Amino acid sequence: MSGTLYVVGTPIGNLSDFSPRAVETLRTVDFIAAEDTRVTLKLLNHFEIKKSLVSYHEHNKQSRGEEIIRRILAGENAAIVSDAGMPCISDPGEDLVRMAAAAGVRTEVVPGPSAVISALCVSGLVTSRFAFEGFLSTSKKSRRDHLNAVKDDTHTLIFYEAPHKLLSTLTDMRDAFGAERRISLARELTKIHEEVRRTTLGEAVEFYTENPPKGEFVLVIEGAEPPAPPEMTLEEAVDMARQLVEEGMRPTDAAKQVSAQTPFRKSEIYTALISEE
Ligand code: SAM
Repeated sequence: MSGTLYVVGTPIGNLSDFSPRAVETLRTVDFIAAEDTRVTLKLLNHFEIKKSLVSYHEHNKQSRGEEIIRRILAGENAAIVSDAGMPCISDPGEDLVRMAAAAGVRTEVVPGPSAVISALCVSGLVTSRFAFEGFLSTSKKSRRDHLNAVKDDTHTLIFYEAPHKLLSTLTDMRDAFGAERRISLARELTKIHEEVRRTTLGEAVEFYTENPPKGEFVLVIEGAEPPAPPEMTLEEAVDMARQLVEEGMRPTDAAKQVSAQTPFRKSEIYTALISEE
């Protein structure tokens, strides 16, 4: 019988965030596919887990992925972990899970922290609608194209960025989204120097020009202002009132109701309505 692929989240800084279920899962699987086996070995040593590790990363994901799926199909249980956070989120794992799905391999998730959700939750910005945009490309043109493609999105936008590229990324964002757009920069979450800086893109560029950024960052950016609703004309308001009259309402009541829903006075709606008769 085929085994299971467990997608296991690991801490993004604080080892106490590693769940008992994650520890249990890593103890019981037959092997662990890890992004960097040295990083995962430290985690395993901390939790006194002894397990065989298989390296699985960007550069060997095709051949190693096929090997892992073959082993699971032959009956072994495996876990996939990345260096920090949830596998598959700007980390290896996405292709392995896709391969597993295509091969009919059972998958199970053991959820853990992820920087994107953690940063969003402390951003103080709108959390009900958001999009994760990952890392911007290193190519200047692709970065600008990406930013221009999302600049009018009204939901919250979330990006990952490395500290040495933060300032140029913030500068590109300020140029694309405007200096007044609000941003929350979540730094070193769950670690000793955890910090959340809520500011604007213009001020963030100034701040990090003076104070070179250190540590890991998530950028949470407020969405664009939604476009103003098109202004309603008196003719459209009278149409609404006429509709109500056709449904049996008295003209004076229809004019009153439409007036309450539109910028027009009851008297002007009523006069226009009556003059049609
Ligand atoms: N898979 C991970 C997850 O679920 O969050 C993300 C891995 S991605 C390669 C690494 C990026 O995540 C960093 O460049 C940074 O943007 C963000 N990140 C990871 N840990 C973080 C932390 N403790 N504080 C802030 N950002 C973090």
